[in-house]
Amino acid sequence: MNTSSANKLREDALHYHAKGRPGKIEITPTKETENQRDLSLAYSPGVAEPCLAIADQPERAYDYTAKGNLVAVISNGTAVLGLGNIGAVASKPVMEGKSLLFKIYADIDAFDIELDTTDVEEFIRTVKILEPTFGGVNLEDIKAPECFEIERRLRAELNIPVMHDDQHGTAITSGAALLNALEIAGKQINTIKLVVNGAGAAATACLDLYVDLGVSPENITVFDKDGLLTKDRTNLVGNQYKYTTDRHPEGYTLADAMVGADVFLGLSVGGVVSQDMIRSMAPGAIVFAMANPNPEITYEAATAARPDIIMATGRSDFPNQVNNVLGFPYIFRGALDVRATEINEAMKLAAVRALAKLAKLPVPEAVSRSYGTDGLVFGRTYILPKPTDPRLLTIVAPAVAKAAMDSGVARKYITDWADYDMQLSR
Ligand code: NAP
Ligand code: MG
Repeated sequence: MNTSSANKLREDALHYHAKGRPGKIEITPTKETENQRDLSLAYSPGVAEPCLAIADQPERAYDYTAKGNLVAVISNGTAVLGLGNIGAVASKPVMEGKSLLFKIYADIDAFDIELDTTDVEEFIRTVKILEPTFGGVNLEDIKAPECFEIERRLRAELNIPVMHDDQHGTAITSGAALLNALEIAGKQINTIKLVVNGAGAAATACLDLYVDLGVSPENITVFDKDGLLTKDRTNLVGNQYKYTTDRHPEGYTLADAMVGADVFLGLSVGGVVSQDMIRSMAPGAIVFAMANPNPEITYEAATAARPDIIMATGRSDFPNQVNNVLGFPYIFRGALDVRATEINEAMKLAAVRALAKLAKLPVPEAVSRSYGTDGLVFGRTYILPKPTDPRLLTIVAPAVAKAAMDSGVARKYITDWADYDMQLSR
């Protein structure tokens, strides 16, 4: 972006956030409040009745309060977008934005909650005591490695779904892209050679999911800032140990690993992959360069080096954007609608497969038009659905809800799927 368009974007963005009532969300009553009678039901004395019913049976909170459609978007501002550790209050525009996306795509109400702490125990304790209010928790923009412990503990200790979207939303969306790219390239998932640059929150979650999808752990080679993840590395945390290797000679580099690789996954920093590396990959290579805002190699440079690759990035100005908004609204929609106690692997895999399937269906004209083309067709430049595709809601949410029921974490069962589809479409 040149300086004048960057300045224009800055001005427009600040004006957008400040105009009218500052910020991006507000609360709207859902019940009539016309007269004294309505108010005596909404508040004292009538409100005592649902209170007593819930005191008797806590599950009734789903019948008498907004809990079942309410998600907390919680951050401490330690890993915000590409901006890094900007603190809790500075992360608020992002969390309000996430709440806005929950609402417009899946009609889920979300409160943004910015916690002014970097202490893991304090963070966990605070979210734990918020549990009565919410039907689910979307953890957001919390830096690694703290994000791993925070999510692990909250998943174990809360009885509502908890998902760190920077990890699992990325894994789910890119997992769907991977399945479709492999199909187009005619490659088998269990034999691909996968090279990964970056071993942080997003990359390790992607690897866990890709292995569940069928990638063979011995075909995975991972690099971080310090180079290859080897078995004798002492500065690794959590899941990183699962992806260490002792198969390569000392000094083995990313360039070495890229020779003959089928898939490159970049979740690191911009500009670390060269055109020569892309040229050295196997025929029909798949390149997911997802560092934001600047990918490991630009779309233009990679496709110029090798026209036969299938390429995805995190950017909206090129084909195949891996955008988490394809996942989190619908994953939480499905989880909330069956009152799931968690978001488990079965639900994540169901979301992956539903997203992959949707990309293969004929695209409604209105969706194609909104991207300025007259026909999006499944293929190397269209491996994922577009965020404006209304079928995301009716295809992904039911798949997630069904997986929750089948895997035994649902507390409410959907039996009439046609009726559920109608409710979602309204
Ligand atoms: P993170 O937890 O901070 O992880 C970053 C990883 O990259 C770390 O393992 C880091 O190594 C490694 N790294 C940094 N510089 C490197 C270099 N020069 N060579 C090799 N590895 C390097 O961050 P994250 O949340 O996983 O996100 C990583 C990137 O992916 C960001 O750019 C983010 O914007 C992007 N992302 C994109 C999407 C999307 O497109 N949908 C979704 C999520 C994340 P050390 O551990 O040694 O520091
Ligand atoms: Mg995020």
